[in-house]
Amino acid sequence: MSGIYDTIVVGAGIEGSSTAYYLAKQGQKTLLFEQFPLPHNRGSSHGQSRITRKAYGSQEHYAVMMNEAFQLWEQLEREKTQECYP
Ligand SMILES: Cc1cc2nc3c(=O)[nH]c(=O)nc-3n(C[C@H](O)[C@H](O)[C@H](O)COP(=O)(O)OP(=O)(O)OC[C@H]3O[C@@H](n4cnc5c(N)ncnc54)[C@H](O)[C@@H]3O)c2cc1C
Repeated sequence: MSGIYDTIVVGAGIEGSSTAYYLAKQGQKTLLFEQFPLPHNRGSSHGQSRITRKAYGSQEHYAVMMNEAFQLWEQLEREKTQECYP
């Protein structure tokens, strides 16, 4: 591991992994640090299911973000499907 990076992200949970993924996709030389071998069960992102919702009372920006999040999730699914089953 050597070189100069545009960005170093610490922690490969869902937040750090997503951040590093999109930085790398934008051409940023990105380094993602994780303290445990992946996958591991010692972070909040462990597990295979999550509840999501688009309804937020006073925080409209969350509802707007959820629409984008669902589009990005579907895009990631398509990319990974093509990568695994070309
Ligand atoms: C049991 C449970 C159920 C949940 N259910 C839901 C749900 O249904 N819906 C929902 O929206 N949210 C849910 N959440 C919340 C959601 O899972 C978390 O908000 C989200 O996973 C947090 O992701 P994160 O990347 O911020 O943190 P984490 O997943 O904890 O990732 C942090 C990572 O950083 C690493 N790290 C920390 N310090 C260092 C260091 N110094 N050097 C290197 N690596 C380091 C850790 O090892 C870890 O891998 C749930 C959480 C839990 C625990």
